[in-house]
Parts: sequence; C-alpha cells; structure tokens
Amino acid sequence: MTKSIYVAQPLLPPIEEFIPYLQKIWDNKILTNGGPFHQQLEEALCKYLGVKHLALLSNGTLGLMTALQGLRVQGEVITTPYSFVATAHSLLWNGIRPVFVDVDPGTLNLDPGKIEAAITESTSAIMPVHCYGHPCDVDAIQKIADKHRLKVIYDAAHAFGVRDTGGSILRHGDLSVVSFHATKVFNTFEGGAIICPDAETKQHIDYLKNFGFVNETTVVAAGINGKMSEVNAAFGMLQLQHIDRALSERQRVDAAYRAGLESVRGIRCLRGPPNVQVNYAYFPILVGPEYALCRDALYQRLKDEGIHGRRYFYPLIPSFPMYRELPSAALDNLPCAVNAAEKVLCLPIYPALTTDEVERIVHIIAAQP
Ligand SMILES: *Cc1c(COP(=O)(O)O)cnc(C)c1O
Repeated sequence: MTKSIYVAQPLLPPIEEFIPYLQKIWDNKILTNGGPFHQQLEEALCKYLGVKHLALLSNGTLGLMTALQGLRVQGEVITTPYSFVATAHSLLWNGIRPVFVDVDPGTLNLDPGKIEAAITESTSAIMPVHCYGHPCDVDAIQKIADKHRLKVIYDAAHAFGVRDTGGSILRHGDLSVVSFHATKVFNTFEGGAIICPDAETKQHIDYLKNFGFVNETTVVAAGINGKMSEVNAAFGMLQLQHIDRALSERQRVDAAYRAGLESVRGIRCLRGPPNVQVNYAYFPILVGPEYALCRDALYQRLKDEGIHGRRYFYPLIPSFPMYRELPSAALDNLPCAVNAAEKVLCLPIYPALTTDEVERIVHIIAAQP
C-alpha cells in the first residue's frame, strides 16, 4: 500500500534548526506583545515581499476582520462567492452585509465588469480575493473604487510572494491581508499579516490588534487580541530561510503536472496571467465535459488511490445557510462561480511532493478512456 498524498503538506524545516530560536525565547522570556522575533519578522517580510509596512497578526481571518475595522467599513461590501468561507465570514462578524458578484470564468477572480451593477447607497468597500494567488484585475477594480469612493481590501491569503511588473501584488488596494496558516505557501503554524500603505495606517492596525492600547493607560479603539506570539514569529524567521527553495520545488511540481496534463482531453490547467511571478500555491484543474469522468468521480477515483485532492471552492459560500437568503446569493446570478465550484479540483502540490508521485497522479488522470 503506497502512502496517502494530501493536497498540501506544511513546510517544516528540520527541528534542530528551530531549537536555537526557542532557546532565545526561553532565555529572554518574552513570549508575545511585539517581542524581538515579532519585530524581526515584520522587517524581514517587508524586505522579502518588497512592501513598506506590514503588521503581523495571529491568523489571516483576524487580519481581514481587523482590516475592516481599521478602515471603518460598514453597510455592504462587494465580494466574491468563490473563496474560502473566511472571506465572507469576516464581513458578517463585523456586521457587514456581503454582496456577492460573479467571477470571471478565465481567472475565477471577481469580475470587474459586474461590480458596478451591485453598488448601492450602502456600499462602502470591495473585498476581492487573488484566488490561487493569481492577481485580480487590480487596475479595473481601483478605477471603480475611485469613481464610487469605495475602499478596497484584498484577501491576499493565497498571494504570498506574488509579483507583477510593478512589484508585490500586496501593494494594491487600501489594505491587503495574507495568511500564514499551515497549509499556505509560507506558514507560521497559524498567522497572517496586513500590508499597509503607510506608517500611520500600520500604527493604527497595531493598536487595533492589541486591544486598542497606545500605552499603559490610553486605549484609543475597541481593539481585539490579534497579536502573533514569539514562537510563531520565530518559526516565520526560520521559514524565510527555506522559502526560495520551497517555491522552486513548487515550480517543479507545477511544471511536471502541466507537462503531463495539458494534452489530456477535457482537463484544463489554470494558470496565472503573463508577466506575473506566481507562487504555485495551488494546482487547480477544471474537469470539463469532454473528460471521461465528472469532477466528483475523478475526485473519488484519486481518493481510492490514496490521493486526496480538494474541491476548492465547493460548496460555494453563498450556498451556506448564513448566506443563502441574501438576494445576491441567488445562484442564477453567479453562473461562473457555480460552474467553477462544480468543475475545479485542486491537485496535491507542496515542496516535498516528488516528480514520481506527480507522474503517478498524472497517469491516473490520463488513464481514463
Ligand atoms: C486561508 C484563507 C483565509 C484564512 O486565513 P487563516 O490564516 O486560516 O485565518 C482567508 N481567505 C482565504 C481565501 C484563505 O484561503
């Protein structure tokens, strides 16, 4: 019996390499509250990602919630139905009504051509997702936001290290939020960050993530506890030393899948736009009608062989009970998202996945009559 292969495997450097970091924490006895590793990781990530200001948080979801608080977003927010539930949940938790707008069938990102029709008096922001790390049409989205005076908060949970011709895609919008969850390209076990355009915004986010404390006696906002601990930040520092190698291993896996699958009838491999340095965070395929099996049958077929792909993103957010009564959640209005939710299968991709394993997966998919 061959070993099971899951969709993601966390990047875990050898444990011996982590011990000296832990020793430092034990020595100086600073466990959290913006300690030395927290400070170091913020600086190192700014440098690595090519952004000016970044605030670490304990996870990406708290990052989204804190970003919305930071910009005082209220009323309605236009967002994508095709994402992980945390995108829409962050809105509900802030008492904001999500308004779902369909995705572009090519990129599976929010379709800018459909945003304006969904804007009302109550709309205060747009929350798009760089799905699978493939950049949204940021220029078109910004143009609409400027015209209607809306804020833009990118859920950039998938987009660590993604660059367009102008630099990091995390620079777009009023704020961008990344996730460092164990399953993401860069992980701190749990963690996340908000990328801020200027020092004042970062300062405000820093207050918000620490209960609103400015100093011992002054509280300026109803903040939350969103701080990243020293253990998580230290692990991030260690991860950073391995990230370039991890990205090139992901690229190897991506290339091996494409070489094997692009000629398979009915299978379409999604890819990012040209001129974008992607991060190979996911390997989504679309299982079309010309393929011998439907998506769910292929998903099961692989599972029977111990290969656990994931149907990201199925079910669609608007079909969950807390969303389905919303007018914008009517599935007839979201045909491209519905189609993607029915056809996409994300194949295993992570640095330790061997080329032999990829070839085995390709062989199973290609072997269908
Ligand atoms: C992972 C993810 C999140 C949540 O991030 P956490 O760090 O797990 O809280 C939000 N949005 C998207 C699109 C994600 O994939």
